[in-house]
Amino acid sequence: MTQQVLSNATIFDGAELEAIRGYLVIRDGKIKKISEGSPPGRATDLKRGFILPPFVNAHTHVADSVAKELYLGRTQQEVVGPGGEKFRALDSHSRSELLTSVRATLQDMFRTGTLAHCDFREGGVKGVKLLREASHKVVKSIIMGRFSTLEELNGVLKKSDGIGLPSLNAFDAKVLQLIANQTRQAKKLLSVHVAELAPTLDEVERALELRPSFIVHATHANEEDFVSLQKNDVPVVFCPRANSLLSVGPPSIHLAIANKVRFYLGTDNAMVCQPNMFEEISFSWACLRRADPKAGGEEARKLLQAATIGPLKLFNLPWGPVEEEGIATFMVLTRGNNLTNLTNLYAGLINRARSDNIRAIYMRGKIL
Ligand SMILES: [Zn+2]
Repeated sequence: MTQQVLSNATIFDGAELEAIRGYLVIRDGKIKKISEGSPPGRATDLKRGFILPPFVNAHTHVADSVAKELYLGRTQQEVVGPGGEKFRALDSHSRSELLTSVRATLQDMFRTGTLAHCDFREGGVKGVKLLREASHKVVKSIIMGRFSTLEELNGVLKKSDGIGLPSLNAFDAKVLQLIANQTRQAKKLLSVHVAELAPTLDEVERALELRPSFIVHATHANEEDFVSLQKNDVPVVFCPRANSLLSVGPPSIHLAIANKVRFYLGTDNAMVCQPNMFEEISFSWACLRRADPKAGGEEARKLLQAATIGPLKLFNLPWGPVEEEGIATFMVLTRGNNLTNLTNLYAGLINRARSDNIRAIYMRGKIL
């Protein structure tokens, strides 16, 4: 029975990420104890560092990393719309080039504290297989497949974790219902890009008719839309950096919080920005503060939840919050030169922490 004790830390405990100053005991891959104060025996001194759950990136397109910055001088539609630059880029690179690029991107995710991502993978069964083959030894890929004809739907459902529709205009309403029903029957996830561009023309209402597992973007969703999302208990994945870089504007994270909508964060197209959750959470905070000067520590805590433990159940991931009897999967951040003198831990962390603060990532009690 091997035991490790990490002391002199701030531990973000449980589903509420309650900050506890003290120590944590790991035994047999599990967290045996979290306590305030100092441990009785030998321990590794974290020198006032932080223990928190790893990031989950709830929306990516990692294969786009094969052609970065192609959005320059182009509108969102010209980049990622039907027949856009992105699809030309995916088609014009070989399978091995795509594999190399995806692998490098997954490794970058790992180096920046992300242990799982949910990817919208284009290209039918072949596209899904490519990401499975590229898979990282640690970072778990939840793959939402895409198909161009209905004949392909079953094949994609078999190989993927669900269906990620490009938009509500990809098929007519009846076909969309059929896709939604088949996806539910297969017990897979269903999602769709919604209301990324204004005007939204009831997009959120139309999406809710499909009873999706979650929707992506809701950049131009209004208050009424957020009320509907809350009523239907459908979570939203916001992608603020990609939205801004593609000139479609920042999402209304403050409305999601005000209306108690479950929300998570994603980095979207790797062509547009790196899947670095430290940067996404910091940018999200800036978007939130831009819209709501009253946003404070409580809102910052909600953003930290959204980027870490929020989507764990949705994606059925094999770890939970940092808590006693929980799986010992977490990140250890050092104070560094940037995280000292914080007057609010949550706001300070999400605004200032960087990947160079990562001291270790633990999975089931082992340092990766
Ligand atoms: Zn997307």
